[in-house]
Amino acid sequence: MYTVAQLIGGVWGAGGEGGELVVHDPADGSPVSSVPVATADEVGKAVEAARDVAAEWAATAPAERAAALHRAADAVAAVADDLARATTAEMGKPLADARGGVEAGIGTLRQYAELAPVRGGRTLHGDTHALDFMVPQPRGVVAVITPWNDPVAVSCGLLGAALVTGNVVLHKPSERAPATGWLLAKALDSALPPGVLSLLTGGPEVGAALAAQEVDVIAHTGSTATGRAIAAAAARTGAKVLLENGGSDPLVVDGDVDPVWAAGQAAVGAFANAGQICVAVERIYAHRDIAEDLTEALVERAERLRTGRGDDPRTELAPLVDRRHRDHVHGQVTAAVAEGARIRTGGMLPDGPGAFYPATVLSDCRHDMTVVREETFGPVAAIVVVDSFSEALRCAADSPYGLAATVLTGSMSHAQRAWRELPVGTVKVNSVFGGAPGGAAHPRRGSGHGFGYGPELLDEFTATKAVHIEAPGGGHW
Ligand code: NAD
Repeated sequence: MYTVAQLIGGVWGAGGEGGELVVHDPADGSPVSSVPVATADEVGKAVEAARDVAAEWAATAPAERAAALHRAADAVAAVADDLARATTAEMGKPLADARGGVEAGIGTLRQYAELAPVRGGRTLHGDTHALDFMVPQPRGVVAVITPWNDPVAVSCGLLGAALVTGNVVLHKPSERAPATGWLLAKALDSALPPGVLSLLTGGPEVGAALAAQEVDVIAHTGSTATGRAIAAAAARTGAKVLLENGGSDPLVVDGDVDPVWAAGQAAVGAFANAGQICVAVERIYAHRDIAEDLTEALVERAERLRTGRGDDPRTELAPLVDRRHRDHVHGQVTAAVAEGARIRTGGMLPDGPGAFYPATVLSDCRHDMTVVREETFGPVAAIVVVDSFSEALRCAADSPYGLAATVLTGSMSHAQRAWRELPVGTVKVNSVFGGAPGGAAHPRRGSGHGFGYGPELLDEFTATKAVHIEAPGGGHW
């Protein structure tokens, strides 16, 4: 059992007067982590303490901050196995995936350590006797509020970019993966000056208390509803918000592709991490010519997945994060069936402990069903049959979200239409996951705004100042 501690004002074990929260293993319901809950007062004191050290960290030479982040990456690498095990114990995902998330996080820390010191402002061409330039400066105090579905990878991106650009950071990890956040904070803090990083733990009320504080930036990765609550709180304090939120990513399957290959793509997109990925395939628009063959091949793929505990290396489909989330997923499936969708496989709550849910394929879905329009965040593939590529694109574009989309097609002109017309941050053609290193996108609509990753994230955590310097009396220096 992990006994989590908070880090406030450089002191481990501070606060926690708000009570105790216990996280249970989603595979068997056994207790995994005991977590202190911060009070609103503690959150306020943590922000004050962070602000006290902000100026010193901001004045530290960029190369020195980068060196600290490199040491922090080393410290995270030294506990990579522990972090992966904690992730699996708390939120259930297969251990190899959890380890992959930790490796991705370490890679991101190192990238930001390399990139930050070489990313400068620019000089301007004003009067010859004057000096004109633009310079990025740290924004000050940054609140980082993160989710549970890939806790190390997501947190490392936001924490690394905010810290290396000279901000002090208060991290509030998800209440569903707090020991993972605690182990990560311990590793990072060991390489940073005291007080530069703080850790606050607890549920949504702790996140809300942090978002209500006079901080300079709130970076939130999580659900759209939470993102909107944070944006509303920030409107009252003037904090900048950076939101990477939910999605309902479409997979468009054109009439000219091999349906068995397309089913493989759909299976990876819909069932990896039990569908608990922001860019998971949530809805499939299949051309009528291949729809039934695609559905049958997808059912076969779904039924072949090995279900089990995340810490069993044979497991391909691990449990969902908890039963509350399972109820949400199953609720959408049963509502779709009541509205005419057909369960081709899965869709039943299994007996036994834990939060397991089977890979589920729904056919006969309509574009207006909740399972199609809203984020399900579970291993559910909802198939809508369409008569043309144009109809598929129209449906794919008609969404309250705009995170990413995938199109499977043999037609270059359809591929071109897809990337031009879809109002989403990322468009992938003929591969559900993938993309070059360093790519970053703006999510659209309910999926958030701002760059949540990539080199551009460094710019989100700095404010650019324009400077004009003349000699007194209009003369020369
Ligand atoms: P969530 O928004 O419920 O929780 C995320 C964090 O926000 C947690 O730390 C939580 O305690 C905190 N929080 C909750 N209510 C709050 C409030 N009112 N004010 C301030 N903080 C609050 O999301 P989740 O369930 O942890 O994560 C799943 C969601 O995250 C999905 O919607 C998924 O699509 C999204 N996600 C998006 C990305 C992306 O890059 N776009 C990446 C990963 C996950």
